[in-house]
Amino acid sequence: MKTKIAVANGDGIGPEIMSAVLSIFEASNVQLEYEFVEMGKSYFDAGHSTGMTALAKETIEKLGILFKGPMETPKGKGVKSINVTARKVWNTYANQRDFRTLNGVDTVFSKAGIPINLTIIRENIEDTYGGIEHLLTYDVAVGRRIITRPGSEQVIRYAFEMARRKGYTKLACGHKANIMKLTDGMFLEVFYEVAKDFPEIEASDIIVDDLCMKLVSRPEIFQSIVLTNLQGDIVSDLCAGLVGGLGFAPSANIGDNISIFEAVHGTAPDIAGKGIANPTALLLSGISMLRFLGDSANAARIENALLYTLEQGIHTGDFGDKSVPASNTTEFANAVIANL
Ligand code: NAD
Repeated sequence: MKTKIAVANGDGIGPEIMSAVLSIFEASNVQLEYEFVEMGKSYFDAGHSTGMTALAKETIEKLGILFKGPMETPKGKGVKSINVTARKVWNTYANQRDFRTLNGVDTVFSKAGIPINLTIIRENIEDTYGGIEHLLTYDVAVGRRIITRPGSEQVIRYAFEMARRKGYTKLACGHKANIMKLTDGMFLEVFYEVAKDFPEIEASDIIVDDLCMKLVSRPEIFQSIVLTNLQGDIVSDLCAGLVGGLGFAPSANIGDNISIFEAVHGTAPDIAGKGIANPTALLLSGISMLRFLGDSANAARIENALLYTLEQGIHTGDFGDKSVPASNTTEFANAVIANL
């Protein structure tokens, strides 16, 4: 029997890359059935304050899995990012981003023969992302940062369980507890409390600025890192840069009842509608969704086809050997399909 999931095409390049990924799923005979939901910028414009229709919300809550393209947040005051709202409304407290060296995607590290295989777990709903800000005077703006013990524990426990599942031997906690002694201090304290339940995993901590320096000089020394929301946001984009850029960065927002799978990148308005976007990050997110749903056979088959396609030097315009003509989104997807 097919598993039903909710799918939102997204804005900008979203529909182009979603269609490419679903064509690969279809060719691999993935046993999924899609309910397309109405979510994104045009729904803000149509007066839905959350950026989605009531039916979309109901469908996602019923099915528990949302596979989504990137969505644009209208600029200006009073409008909350649909992505942040979705994470909050459905309590998807852990954001998992896996970064690995991909043959065919040249980076400083791949050229030096240094392989990267690294997972960042970012706390996804607390910290400064509540957007609790106000003006004290015309010249003084104040923002609040909220870190809670239960909120920290659920994401840190998820990070240790993920490390165990993946066979990692090390998990580091990135923080700034030397300065933010109460907020980051609490996150760090909870980290070492939870670590006691995972004696086989070596737990360590590192101050976030030192972490950034080490990530860009010796990324191979890390396996998995858990961080608070804002620091995790910045560090995970840094890690995307280590493996070739945003076109290769998948993301899963995990909650107890609802999980959202999407690429890290945004709607790429500069190339939207041209049919040239790189679908790899969304495809990698889709592969991790298949694994999450227990379909490891299709996940492995599609992943191998993708890796082989990249190794063949087939690439979209945002990466790869410039002397080899770039494929468009559909040609790239068809090359993956041919390699299944
Ligand atoms: P962006 O990620 O959309 O684009 C940054 C640069 O990367 C652009 O040059 C773009 O062309 C390129 N790029 C991104 N994805 C690509 C792909 N798949 N293939 C080829 N090139 C790619 O970031 P931005 O311009 O800061 O944001 C644009 C919009 O996206 C904003 O409205 C923002 O709010 C939204 N956004 C949404 C999400 C999400 O839905 N999860 C995430 C980030 C940004």
